[in-house]
This record gives sequence, C-alpha cells and structure tokens, in this order.
Amino acid sequence: MKKHNFSAGPCILPSSVLEKAASAVRNFNDDNLSLIEISHRSKPFVNVMERARELALEHLGLQNKGYKALFLQGGASLEFLMVAYNLLEKKAAYLNTGTWSSKAIKEAKHFGEMIEVGSSADANFNYIPKNYNIPTDVDYFHCTSNNTIFGTQLQSFPDVSIPMVCDMSSDIFSRVLDFSKFDLIYAGAQKNMGPAGTTLVVVKEEILGKVTRHIPSMLDYKVHISKDSMFNTPAVFPVYVSMLTLEWLKENGGVAAIETINNKKAALLYNEIDRNPLFKGFVANKEDRSKMNATFNLLEDGLKEQFDTLWNAAGINGLNGHRSVGGYRASMYNALPLESVQVLVDVMQELEKNA
Ligand SMILES: *Cc1c(COP(=O)(O)O)cnc(C)c1O
Repeated sequence: MKKHNFSAGPCILPSSVLEKAASAVRNFNDDNLSLIEISHRSKPFVNVMERARELALEHLGLQNKGYKALFLQGGASLEFLMVAYNLLEKKAAYLNTGTWSSKAIKEAKHFGEMIEVGSSADANFNYIPKNYNIPTDVDYFHCTSNNTIFGTQLQSFPDVSIPMVCDMSSDIFSRVLDFSKFDLIYAGAQKNMGPAGTTLVVVKEEILGKVTRHIPSMLDYKVHISKDSMFNTPAVFPVYVSMLTLEWLKENGGVAAIETINNKKAALLYNEIDRNPLFKGFVANKEDRSKMNATFNLLEDGLKEQFDTLWNAAGINGLNGHRSVGGYRASMYNALPLESVQVLVDVMQELEKNA
C-alpha cells in the first residue's frame, strides 16, 4: 500500500498522475516512443508545453491579463538571482520570513541596494512580521508566501504601487488569491505541482525590459518568453507531469475546491496539536500558521522514540522537521488525502493513550 507521504519536497503527487506519467515513459501518445526520447520540438511535446503554460495561467485566473507562463530550469533558487538580474536597477525591498527569503535577499545584494522591510529572524522565523513599510521608490517588493521550513504563511499581501514578486514554491495552486496583485510569481515544481527539475514563472510582461544591464540569454525572461519557453531543451518529463497535475486539479474543481480540502486537512491536524497535551506547535501566532506545512514538537523528548515507532508503523513518511527547526513537520500539499491526516491524528491520539 502507498505510504502516507507528508514529505516537504519533493512531495506527494496524485496517484492517477503517477500512473499516466509511468505509461507516457513507456509509450507516449500511442506513438510507440517514450515521452523522454522524442524531440521537444515535435508537435506532441509542443502541445504539452502549451497546455501546461495555459493551465497554469487558467488556475491563477491570469489569462488575457498580460501575463506569460514559463517552465524554466535551475529551481526556485535560480529565480532568486533571475528576479534581481531582470528587475533590480537601483534598489529593491524584501520581506525576510525564513531560509528561502534570506537566500533570495543574498542574491539581490549582488545587483543593487536591498532594503529589508521586515524580518522574523529574531525569533527563528516563528511568526510573520506585520505593519512593515514598503518604500515607494524601489524597483519591486519581494516576499515568500509560504515558509516551507518554519511552517508560516502570509495570509494577506500588501497593496503596493511597485511590482510585487512572490516565491510561491510551496503553496502555489493551494488557495484562492487575487493573483493579479502580483507581477511575478515563481515556484519550483516539486512542492505542489510535479517532480523536481522545472520552475514555473508567471510574469507580467510590462515589468520587463526596464533595467539597463546586459542580461545573459539564459537568464533573460524576455528571451524565454520570445521562444515560448523553448529557448533550449526544456525539462520534458517534469513539464509533462506538472501538466498532468494541473489537469488533475482542473478535473477536481480547481484551486477553490482544493482549498476547501486543504482547509479541512489543516484544521484537523492543528486542532489535534492544540488539543493533545503531548504536543505543541512551533509557530507563535495561530493566524500565521501554514496550511501546507505544519511544524510541531513533543513537549517531552522522552516520547520521541515511541512516537517515531508509531507513525512509521502506520505507514507515514516524511514527518521529521527540518534541521533548523527540529521536531516534526507535516506537509499537506494538494495531493495528500484527508485520510492521511486522519491517520496521523490517530497516531497522535494513540501516543496520548499509551503515555
Ligand atoms: C524548496 C523551496 C525553494 C528552493 O527550491 P529549489 O527548487 O530547490 O531551488 C525556494 N523557496 C521555497 C519557498 C521553497 O519551499
């Protein structure tokens, strides 16, 4: 039986998607060729790329609004650099809410002045800074919507007159937002969309072409747009599987429908963390809690061995917290069924009975 996969990333994907992906590797499109041995310029694959780009915009409600979707390589980590390369002329504002934000900030500093408008580094990123001011004379504002490692999530986004850039790697397609507030969204596929190896970038075209520096072709969003995300050989398998996941999402009612289930999953687990006297949550304020990654710990270290034995025996995978937080982290991405969360809650209750 398939494990209950709470892995933070690469993460669980829908089983129907895995079946289709496996079959396409053997024989794609009934052409008696594998998906991964055909030309990326062939009609069947060009159709895959176009469909994936179209579905991404459709799920975000950004069709016909001046946005382009790209499937690039280099992970979200390369976007830390590319965003600054393409948009930072003089200075940019960053909100520092965790490890990934800090890494984005580090790259931006190579290109200009970086203004950190808020940070929760003082408390090991266990909260989301509020009431920060964003200067109006910056080239853009950058934030991270969900902090995968610490388990915090932005529940609202500031209204700004400058372009807003967001790393949505670990919560893209998980909840309804007014995505037109953002001018550039990026997300590594392996958290909520597909296998590692491709990164979705959704960018409003009008914000590009404003910096004076020369941008190398592979790092230039305009080059990738002009080549329809096929400037060089794209990551054909990750793009195909991402397309399948986006189709699965559409068949299941889209982002709004999955958000309802995600809310149920998060409520089920957080209620147990709050109720069960053996556990405590890591995040300081309940309103900052992530619906994707729940971080928690045992109050007594002595129970660790017993708890670990129990959840392993229940077929749960990927529950250990990140080394910078410790404890446990349950990642409840779109493809994780509610039943898996119930299994975890049952294990937590069993521990309470035995302790
Ligand atoms: C995992 C993650 C990254 C890094 O992604 P890579 O694709 O490994 O470069 C960046 N930002 C967030 C929010 C993440 O969760």
